[in-house]
Amino acid sequence: MNGANDGKGKRKDKKWHVGKGSNFKPVIRGRDGDRLPYIEDSRTGCWICTGKPNQFGYPMINCQPAGRIYYEAVYGVVIPDGFQVHHFLPDCPRRCCNPAHLVIVTTADHAKLERQLRQLRRLIEESGD
Ligand SMILES: [Zn+2]
Ligand SMILES: [Zn+2]
Repeated sequence: MNGANDGKGKRKDKKWHVGKGSNFKPVIRGRDGDRLPYIEDSRTGCWICTGKPNQFGYPMINCQPAGRIYYEAVYGVVIPDGFQVHHFLPDCPRRCCNPAHLVIVTTADHAKLERQLRQLRRLIEESGD
């Protein structure tokens, strides 16, 4: 029998060593167990997904936006229908899939937030010169 041996011995809890800043690079796996590919940008902390981008520049994994897949994998949640992941940092590229750089918003709110972000980027560009 291969049943669990409950009475005997303690199961060792996994220890998580979270490195400082950019040293921490977890292996992210999708629902099917595939390892999700990304390269970390050590300057911005962005996780640049190496999946092929769609026509809007968002990388896709199994026909789903990568950001959504990574968010669900890291936080262990399922994003309901009618919600999308949004990159809220002005200098975060669409290829970024770091869940810490993403927020869940409704589809309706998303359009509004994208408009605000475009405005913000313009203002930052203008003030930079
Ligand atoms: Zn980012
Ligand atoms: Zn967005």
